[in-house]
Parts: sequence; C-alpha cells; structure tokens
Amino acid sequence: MTFAGMWAELAAIGRAPSGGYRRFAWTRTDAVLREWFTASAQARGLDVVGDRAGNLWAWTADPDAHGPGLVLGSHLDSVPDGGAFDGPLGVVSAFAALDLLRASGRAPTRPLGIACFSDEEGARFGVACAGSKLLTGALDADRARALTDADGTWMAEAMRDSLDVAAVGRDEETLRRVGTFVELHVEQGRSLVDFDAAVGVASSIWPHGRWRLDLRGRADHAGTTRLADREDPMLALAAAVLAARSAAEQAGTVATIGKLAVAPNGVNAIPSSVTAWLDARGGREADVRAVVAAVGDAAGAEPVEESWTGPTVFDPALRDRLATALGTDGVPAPVLPTGAGHDAGVLAAAGVPTAMLFVRNPTGVSHSPAEHAEEADCLAGVAALARVVQELA
Ligand SMILES: [Zn+2]
Repeated sequence: MTFAGMWAELAAIGRAPSGGYRRFAWTRTDAVLREWFTASAQARGLDVVGDRAGNLWAWTADPDAHGPGLVLGSHLDSVPDGGAFDGPLGVVSAFAALDLLRASGRAPTRPLGIACFSDEEGARFGVACAGSKLLTGALDADRARALTDADGTWMAEAMRDSLDVAAVGRDEETLRRVGTFVELHVEQGRSLVDFDAAVGVASSIWPHGRWRLDLRGRADHAGTTRLADREDPMLALAAAVLAARSAAEQAGTVATIGKLAVAPNGVNAIPSSVTAWLDARGGREADVRAVVAAVGDAAGAEPVEESWTGPTVFDPALRDRLATALGTDGVPAPVLPTGAGHDAGVLAAAGVPTAMLFVRNPTGVSHSPAEHAEEADCLAGVAALARVVQELA
C-alpha cells in the first residue's frame, strides 16, 4: 500500500459536509480509524498492543526482549472540521517510511514501533493530548474518567467499549519500551515556506493552556426588557474577546476565544449564561499568564484553568543530530519552534528522548478544512522519516 493508497483509505472517514473532519475520541468514527490502524499494522506483520491509556502501538519486533525501541507516529483524531493532515500525516508517513526501508533492504535491526495516540486534540472532552498525558501520568486518571463531553457523557463511559476503564492511568510497561520517539507532523505555520524547505526539525513547543470563563446573567425577553434592567453576560464576553486580542498583542503572544456555550441560545432571549473557552500561548509563561489575567479582569470572572503545559524543549542533541542527517550539501535542515501542542511534547516532558519533524504547509492554515500539504512534500517527509530510522535504529 502506497502513501497515496493509505491517504485514499482515510479520506472518507469522519468527513463533514464542510469538507473537513470530525474525528472525535472514543466515537464510532474513532473506532473505524483505530481499526484502520490495526489492519494497516497487521498487513505489515506488526504486533499491535494497546496500553492503559488507549493508545495503540504497532511493533516490528518485541520491544521487551530487544528494546527499548524507536517509535514513530502521531494521532488520528481531529478538531471540529479539522484538516486531513494534522495527525494522520504522521501515522501514514510512519507506515510509508517502514515500507520504504523494507523495499530497499534497510529494515531496522532495533524494534521499530508505530504509535497511534488517542484523543490528541481534546475536541470532545476538553483536554488536549489526553492519551499521552494519561500514559505518562500528566493527566490524573480519576480526573480523566470524570471529564464530560457536550452531551454529558463521561470519558469513562465513552472509553468503556475499547479499554479497561478501571486500569486507565500511567503505564510504566509501555513507557519502558520507548527508547526514542519521533513524531512527524504537518507544520501549523509558514516557517518552512520562508526557509524554502519541505521538511524541518522542531526545537521547542511554546507554553500553552486552556481556560474556561463562566459568565452568569439573567435570561429575559429581548423585546420587553429595558437596557438598564438587563443582566447580559454577552457584554462580559465581548469585553473578554477584545481584551484577549489587545493583551496578546501587547505581550507578543497569541490568545483565542473560539468556543462558546450560550444558554438558552435564542435569538430573542437575553442569555442567562455564556461559557467561553480561552486558548493562550506564547514564548514565555509569564506573558501567557498575564494575558489570561487581563482577560479575566475584562470579563469580571476568574478564568478556570482546564489544562496547562509548560514550555517543552526537545532533546537538543537529538534535534541537532536529525537536523544534520536531514540537511543537504552540508547545510542542516531548518530548526523551528511551534505554538502547537503535541504528544511528542508530552513524552519529552516525561523524559523520553523525543524529536519532531515538520512538513511544509504552503498556506500555514491548520485546524481547518483548508489545511494542506503538497504530495511531493509529504513524500519528502516519508523519506526524511526513513532517514531518521536509519540514523537511530
Ligand atoms: Zn496534531
């Protein structure tokens, strides 16, 4: 199965009318993607094992007997109406890199693993990288089980068909098998366009987090309630949205309010409550915290922290080694930071030697149906991943 063949197999799964994808954790769509992963691994003679966090690991050889191994991979879930590349590119490229190495008689001697992390985007339960954070213990198992989606379904219920919910949590046995992790991902920016390069190496991930703003008011009639008599939480939201923009501009960070729940959500009703979610990221933690505080002040509500990830610096020696190995004519491949969180960042924070490769995104657009990468660049990514395996395994 070629890269294009695998890409075509995934194309219809979870496709939304927008042309983007709705591939949320622990749904039927997610199960179909996981079945695809398992079938693709088994077709290559790999052994697929799940872990205590619901992530899937496909191994070429026994990592307990001959490990620890080198692991490639990424995730298959998406944000609402996300693009085709964020996540799946890393998984498909890992299988394609293995195929490339085997076809040229350079199959790795060390056990090679391909990982499919569960619930990376946190689109359903609100915690990003839930699968890798459960694996490393960065997300408390009780907290995870009690997370609810928009319909009030607990994560524990959603997981029940796929894994032993009582055993969910940090998984030492799985972590021991991972000697090195390398995640290939579509770039979520335009740095590689500026570098005129198809593939780059990540240096670090910005500190980032998510906060919830609970804005309360009083439901009332939009026609008969005098302005002076209203308690309208939408005004606090408006102030929060503008403050997020101006505070981020001032601090040199980014901040976004991109998700709302309005009650009762009627055109002719003053809202009784507005719940808003703030995503804030930046190069320095203090700057990000200052932006969040400014948004809370503007809204008149204390932001509730739903997740926080400190700065992640990828293993510098590994990063430099890969940049050199992937360079051309003695010039190393570009090295760049990112504002996006990844499972690779979670593993790096847990002490696993970790690196990331980025594949050029011509527009920089991501988390959107318009997300794109040229096939030639994707194949350059596959070749780079194969080169990395040769270097490390
Ligand atoms: Zn991703």
